[in-house]
Amino acid sequence: MSEALKSTGADWSLSDPGLIRTQAYVNGEWADAADGATFPVYNPATREVIAEVASVGAAETRRAIEAAEAAQKEWASKTAMERSAILRNWNDLLLENLEDLAIIMTVEQGKVLAESRGEVAYAASFVEWFAEEGKRVYGDVLPLPQPGRRGIVIKQPVGVCAAITPWNFPAAMLTRKAAPALAVGCAMVAKPPHETPLSMLAQAELADRAGLPAGLLNVLPAEHSRPVGDELCSNPIVRKLTFTGSTAVGKLLTKQCAGTLKRLSMELGGNAPVIVFEDADLELAAKGAAASKYRNSGQTCICANRILVQDTVYDEFIEELKKVVGTYKIGNGLDESVTHGPVITRKALEDIRDLVDDAVEHGATVAAGGEFGEGDSQFIEPTILCDVTPKMRIFNEEIFGPVAPVFRFSTEKEAIEMANDTEYGLASYIFTGDQNRSWRVAEGIEYGMVGVNETLFTSQFIPFGGMKESGQGREGSRYGIDEYVETKFICFGDIGTS
Ligand code: NAD
Repeated sequence: MSEALKSTGADWSLSDPGLIRTQAYVNGEWADAADGATFPVYNPATREVIAEVASVGAAETRRAIEAAEAAQKEWASKTAMERSAILRNWNDLLLENLEDLAIIMTVEQGKVLAESRGEVAYAASFVEWFAEEGKRVYGDVLPLPQPGRRGIVIKQPVGVCAAITPWNFPAAMLTRKAAPALAVGCAMVAKPPHETPLSMLAQAELADRAGLPAGLLNVLPAEHSRPVGDELCSNPIVRKLTFTGSTAVGKLLTKQCAGTLKRLSMELGGNAPVIVFEDADLELAAKGAAASKYRNSGQTCICANRILVQDTVYDEFIEELKKVVGTYKIGNGLDESVTHGPVITRKALEDIRDLVDDAVEHGATVAAGGEFGEGDSQFIEPTILCDVTPKMRIFNEEIFGPVAPVFRFSTEKEAIEMANDTEYGLASYIFTGDQNRSWRVAEGIEYGMVGVNETLFTSQFIPFGGMKESGQGREGSRYGIDEYVETKFICFGDIGTS
């Protein structure tokens, strides 16, 4: 095993150690689990235990839901300006503590510091954005068919919301949900993933310091997600569940929520195609594909999962991609010279290796990288696979690791068919120099988001979300607020005429 793939330590400390919170945050108070249970949080770069965190269950979840219900009514009665002021305080504190939050993220999640800093800023941007959007929740006046009547539509907060989030974006996945919820007058009960609870707990600490009233944001870390998830899905006080994670768990939670018919937002898995046409700028395409593929060591739902390249430029594209990958350095994300950190768990590494082995057994060749850490190492060399075909598992499955499979196509029609040949429909990317083609293909592929000659487009300004089995609902932008309001029609009768 090469040196770069061995687990490496690096010292870290925070300017404000008070941001490391290891208890649950319920009704504005920090509390241990009722039975005192805890679970370890590991640094994926070193396999060291960095914290023991309270592991709560159904009883604490019920308490959090009831606290949220009690707090929500008064919060909803405040003006949007008052709610906005508190959210802006939270945004300011997230940004003031950006460096500490980034260090916490890197040690629990593994992504490199530059990416962690970017994610904390991205997380804060949703708070700032929705602090403003909350002021613009407009209704409507409707023409009605009967004389002497007037109709209006008002928007009201959904009520108590629950959020379940994944480990790959430990900070942003909370604020993309909690900020719009809080901005319109909802309360939130959130369950972080057991791999990375510290980021969300630190954000809750800062929400507390920002003056968010008790009960409006509750955070429930748990080693076992089932008891917390079951309560969130079955408790009738919870009116909405917003989930980001795998499609399999999203489907399970959807079934569980059917009993109380909760509103749902589902941000699920992806199988993003990057389509590179022969008329594309190949250097731009390779850089864009690599930026999407290897970001967060390949662990994002919008990571390039299938790179589809027109056969006339296939070899040239591979050479360009190899040049980009050749500049990468793997290691502990706290080292500023490192570009790519470990994957989240040893199990994740093994699943990714299985996909590569399957492809190689069926005829794919390794054009770069291909080495996996041994023992307890969680490092994978950024890898390029050539001669990959749709018959291989890697065409259909979310890789969630730094492996770029490059497929061939010959016509535009074939590229569209290949791109759509999946149950997923989250992000997609097209590289072409032909504007007419970019329109045709963007409209022909079944994805919630399309990047044309661009792969890094996420921000608070865009409606993020997917089609097909990638989910339902949108987060961010002006559309993101719709997920947290009810539309109420009011009819005024017996008005007469003036
Ligand atoms: P996961 O589905 O295993 O877990 C997500 C969350 O669900 C975690 O908090 C987990 O503890 C919880 N969970 C798991 N089983 C549960 C149950 N039975 N009841 C209640 N909660 C349960 O996903 P993951 O491995 O943490 O994240 C990776 C997945 O998330 C990938 O599929 C990725 O594409 C997807 N993702 C999607 C988006 C998006 O916006 N569409 C963003 C990031 C990640």
